[in-house]
Amino acid sequence: MLKLSHVNKTFGETPVLKDLSTEFPEQQTTVVLGPSGSGKSTMLRSLNLLERPESGIYDCDDLQIDFAKPITSKTTLEVRQRTEMVFQSFNLFPHFSVLQNVIEGPVHVLHQSKDAATKEALTLLDSVGLLDKADAYPVELSGGQSQRVAIARSLAMHPQYILLDEPTSALDPELELEVLKVLLAIHDQNQSMIIVTHNMAFAQRVANKILFIENGDALYDGPTDGFFHSTNDRIKSFIDSMT
Ligand code: ATP
Ligand code: MG
Repeated sequence: MLKLSHVNKTFGETPVLKDLSTEFPEQQTTVVLGPSGSGKSTMLRSLNLLERPESGIYDCDDLQIDFAKPITSKTTLEVRQRTEMVFQSFNLFPHFSVLQNVIEGPVHVLHQSKDAATKEALTLLDSVGLLDKADAYPVELSGGQSQRVAIARSLAMHPQYILLDEPTSALDPELELEVLKVLLAIHDQNQSMIIVTHNMAFAQRVANKILFIENGDALYDGPTDGFFHSTNDRIKSFIDSMT
């Protein structure tokens, strides 16, 4: 299981994560909620070492990192194989077809054969409803289709955790729905996920646990029901403001 303990991160003079401790259960979906600027993206990016906290401990089974000490490139690689990030803006390779986008990592990073990677990629594209787009290029896709390709691409890497930072915030509601359906299906297959979202209905539906961050620290960290039925005034007003 992935855990953070006493993590601190500052940008310049501004503390953004303040002694944050939490854990992300395996085969479950953790949804990260909180006001804008509270540190959600910084926390998620720290899990993939896209941000580097100044102190705290990162723990994932046999892998432990002390953020206060130097991190080797081998460790960084190891972390990035365990955690795969899906970005708000999809980040597909524009000059690669959909299929090439999905097999790029498995072939060049995981050293799978092209045949095996292609076979799996086609299965994954089918599972996100995009088998017929395998030979299309990103420019020919809608935002929702692009995000589903990005999700298939992350699954092809077989990460322990998939990290998603507002995966649907760039999408119109109709396209958002098709992406959320795919994420629910992945959740139902017990893929461990950590999702930052502002969509409260989706959070309530998909989350096994909620991490509510405010001012860089966890104000709530526990079961989904407990969050949505919280009597805490701050949490109640946050939920009211979002729905
Ligand atoms: P949102 O819901 O708007 O995405 P968030 O909870 O993801 O917000 P973060 O992006 O983690 O918030 O940012 C937390 C704070 O850190 C903000 O005050 C932001 O301005 C600051 N911050 C984030 N990235 C940087 C950076 N690279 N340099 C300086 N400050 C940053
Ligand atoms: Mg953010």
